[in-house]
Amino acid sequence: MKHKSFKKQNKKWTTEELAKGILASNSIILSQTITLLESTKEEDNKIAREVIELILPKTGNSIRIGITGVPGVGKSTFIEAIGQEILKENTGNKIAVLAIDPSSQKSKGSILGDKTRMEKISVLKNVFIRPSPAGKELGGVHRKTRETILLCEAAGYNYILVETVGVGQSETAVHSMVDCFLLLMLPGAGDELQGIKRGIMEMADIIAINKADSDKDIAANTAVSNYKNAIHLLPKSDSGWITEVTSCSALNNFKINLILDNIIKFKQYQTLKGYWIKRRNQQSKYWIKKTIEQYLINSFFENDNLLQQIEVKEEEVLKGNISSFKAAEELIEIYKKNLKTND
Ligand code: GDP
Repeated sequence: MKHKSFKKQNKKWTTEELAKGILASNSIILSQTITLLESTKEEDNKIAREVIELILPKTGNSIRIGITGVPGVGKSTFIEAIGQEILKENTGNKIAVLAIDPSSQKSKGSILGDKTRMEKISVLKNVFIRPSPAGKELGGVHRKTRETILLCEAAGYNYILVETVGVGQSETAVHSMVDCFLLLMLPGAGDELQGIKRGIMEMADIIAINKADSDKDIAANTAVSNYKNAIHLLPKSDSGWITEVTSCSALNNFKINLILDNIIKFKQYQTLKGYWIKRRNQQSKYWIKKTIEQYLINSFFENDNLLQQIEVKEEEVLKGNISSFKAAEELIEIYKKNLKTND
């Protein structure tokens, strides 16, 4: 293998050194490799991807958990609480928290980044926290998150928590990279009021009604039974798992252990039924397809020659000379001819 390298603070690392550093749980090298992955320079991405190929045999040994919910529901507080619970149970556990913020591209600000988050666990040795930067396109951010999961696993993190704001498209992508999808809700408000779409509820393996600060919380108990009833009306999951609904208080660390128990129970159930591996295999196939799709979209729309032609065809469609479909077919033909001449 050729020795590709990049310069960081006057130190040149080869791909082999990066891979070795990750496998030795060096969090600085892990961070640097993720930075290469997130870089807008293709040459950086290439190095990071070569590292991924090298560390691939050491990946997969984790519970990948997606955590979603509307802003303010308590996601970062919950991650702090469950993080402490995970570390308490077994001192050998290591947690990586990856946060995806779909808002940051649009608003140029960040829902996730603009507050001090997870102060308690962020200082712990066995915890690695990494927010995803704003991406050019959603697909790109998610691909990088999935690749980051692999890097973290190779570095020995056995709990990967992927946090996303439950307001849009990103849940589906997160769902396609995690083993267990956890939805945080608030008591006292219907799901329609919380902006959570039915589809997201269908994806949830576990629902936690947060901010249930005591057992006597009537609103929380009502919410738990309402969601349990609602779940029976949704289509059953392939494995037959019935979404667990529990109330908890992330702030008071109340019943957080029950949520962790549910996650472990879910893993045992899925493994027993063969769905743990099945879901990962489906996800691997999904990511092959997604990556090709993204490549084709980019190669089509980042082609200068074609962009001019698109404008010409758009004009024709707007004048009523040809239909949108005909225009698309003709553009695809031009694209295919371009490919042939470039061969
Ligand atoms: P996020 O936007 O979903 O990450 O929510 P945060 O974790 O930042 O929490 C939003 C606010 O809700 C903060 O002021 C938290 O202290 C508060 N909060 C989070 N969990 C609880 C809880 O279980 N009970 C109460 N009473 N407040 C909570």
